[in-house]
Amino acid sequence: MSAAAPLTDDLRSLYQDIILDHGKSPRNLRIVEHHTCKAQGNNPMCGDRVTVTARVSRAGMLEDVAFEGKGCAISIASASMMSEALAGQSAATAKQLFDAVHDLCTGKIEAEHVKAKVPAALGDSIDKLAALSGVRQFPVRVKCATLPWHALMSCLDGKTQATTEK
Ligand code: ZN
Repeated sequence: MSAAAPLTDDLRSLYQDIILDHGKSPRNLRIVEHHTCKAQGNNPMCGDRVTVTARVSRAGMLEDVAFEGKGCAISIASASMMSEALAGQSAATAKQLFDAVHDLCTGKIEAEHVKAKVPAALGDSIDKLAALSGVRQFPVRVKCATLPWHALMSCLDGKTQATTEK
């Protein structure tokens, strides 16, 4: 069992609001024009499927990030927040944020400590992404939350498929 501290009721309802907002009205639900990479992520445990596209400049900056697909509110909200957080950031920063989100979702780090792991410019993004930390009690949901991130990492690695079954 996870040793993660239980969320307070206030924080839980804030997190639910953020996930419902992004789950119902996802940002960047499209294909990136002139994308330089594209990868599909598949989470058979839940039935989530997302395709992430991104345009990376020669200097390694993510000029645009978007996604398409179908899935539960958590996977869609995670993809939506990811696309918002990473547009204009470097691929190296994307990897840092992936690690931070992974640690948040698996309960390796508490939300109040995760900011120290990412560049200061991503502080607001990580505040929102902390909403995903509620999944840590539910192993299947962890895969929903991390799926779009696995897809983005595959995309940036030049692979076309991502799986949460690793
Ligand atoms: Zn799901």
